[in-house]
Amino acid sequence: MTDQPDAISSAYPTAETTEQFAANISEVRARIDAAARAAGRAPEDVRLLPVSKTVPEERVRLAVAAGATLLGENKVQEALRKSENLADIDELDWAVIGHLQTNKAKYVARFAAEFHALDSIRLAESLQRRLDLEDRTLDVYVQVNTSGEESKFGLEPADAEEFVRRLPTFDRLNIAGFMTLAVFSAEETRVRRCFTVLRELRDRVCAEAPGGLHPEGLSMGMSGDFEAAIDEGATTVRVGQAIFGSRALPDSYYWPTGPGGAEASA
Ligand SMILES: *Cc1c(COP(=O)(O)O)cnc(C)c1O
Repeated sequence: MTDQPDAISSAYPTAETTEQFAANISEVRARIDAAARAAGRAPEDVRLLPVSKTVPEERVRLAVAAGATLLGENKVQEALRKSENLADIDELDWAVIGHLQTNKAKYVARFAAEFHALDSIRLAESLQRRLDLEDRTLDVYVQVNTSGEESKFGLEPADAEEFVRRLPTFDRLNIAGFMTLAVFSAEETRVRRCFTVLRELRDRVCAEAPGGLHPEGLSMGMSGDFEAAIDEGATTVRVGQAIFGSRALPDSYYWPTGPGGAEASA
């Protein structure tokens, strides 16, 4: 195996104080800014979405005290629990960034500001219905499987354009852009190809502007690859471990048959 995500991710120390969180956030932000400038882009066009999955609420509070105002969570139950227990904090928004079963759309509709993993019309219908009941709207990114790995969720790139043409009827969904997870690989050309596929898809869809939609956003790039993602056009990078520290749970917990699972440890 050349893909060793766990070996790469074990390098991040755990932030335990507000000062450590402030230092990590400003270091990641400085790297984002530098990557944007190097790509000829404006740093303010790239948003940092800190990902707090698996992190206990006491430490999430420290990250908020250090300036985080938007947090990403992969699993909806964990996100809902944290949003309820941290409801005393004003101006804290939640983004659900992981695969969602249709029967759990009601939770996302209740509390989330953003959803980064739309991958079916049935799910769009459920979200629309539940958002109607809550009288809320939701910023949504269409998830695309750009790596061709079976372990990754998301639409095939070839199906995504037709999919977006069906979205204008869902008026509770603000179709903000596209999201992807790149292949886990030490080979940067393979990682980059995933980001390029998403950018080119975005460009085609925005040129067509189906039903007046302009889904300009590109949610792509994580702790290990966000600089390449920014070079390829990322407008939101989802960064967990570089801010919070290495996770105890392997990524196979989030991508069940993916890296760190049976295949990687075989
Ligand atoms: C965990 C996660 C991230 C962040 O990964 P890190 O390696 O912690 O930066 C980004 N996107 C999704 C969908 C995730 O589940």
